[in-house]
Amino acid sequence: MEEIKYTHCPNCGIEIKKEGILKIGNSLFYPKDPKFFRKYANATSDVFCEKCQSGISRHARENYHKIFESKKEELKVAIDDIPIVSIQNPSGWDYSVIDIVTSQYVTGTGFLTEIKADFSDFLGRESQKMNSRLSEGEQKCFQRMRNIAASKGANAIIGVDIDYAEVGGIKGMLMVCTAGTAVNLKNPEILNTDKPYLKNVTNLFKEVSDLVDEYPYDRYV
Ligand SMILES: [Zn+2]
Repeated sequence: MEEIKYTHCPNCGIEIKKEGILKIGNSLFYPKDPKFFRKYANATSDVFCEKCQSGISRHARENYHKIFESKKEELKVAIDDIPIVSIQNPSGWDYSVIDIVTSQYVTGTGFLTEIKADFSDFLGRESQKMNSRLSEGEQKCFQRMRNIAASKGANAIIGVDIDYAEVGGIKGMLMVCTAGTAVNLKNPEILNTDKPYLKNVTNLFKEVSDLVDEYPYDRYV
């Protein structure tokens, strides 16, 4: 048995003892991913005792969450900065093509019954409502395309095209489809805007994916 090796906890030094009739025992605890405890709780051993492991585990999780949340926030800002343009070959851009990116989003147009719609049209409300639903759909598509582009190592999307299609004859349902070319823009300073993260979006994406893979628990809690 492995437990025989230790008379004391290699982490906190407390005695390891079998549960007796009058005494409460303290047995060894082998975490399934000791690397995680070493990295995020500065643990110096791979084995803990029941008494210290919950503190170590809480400390490691808290530390990890802090780092993960702040990296995720940084990545979010970087992804939001990814420019989306409809022109095929923006002038002055030095880029290499990565891949095509597409996205679809189904939205209700907010159509009313026909009679109400007639009045609403007359008052100009219907088109307002429809426009806002469509632009919401476009924004959702753009956001998805930005995420896909970032995951492919791109930091800009060019030649973007937007299409609308009716969904299966259901009144008031419309699909927004967008497509574009994800590129790696090598001179983001050409955009003339303050987007400090844009150069870094690929690295940030990798850092966040590595953090996700590193988490040894099933659920992020
Ligand atoms: Zn211990």
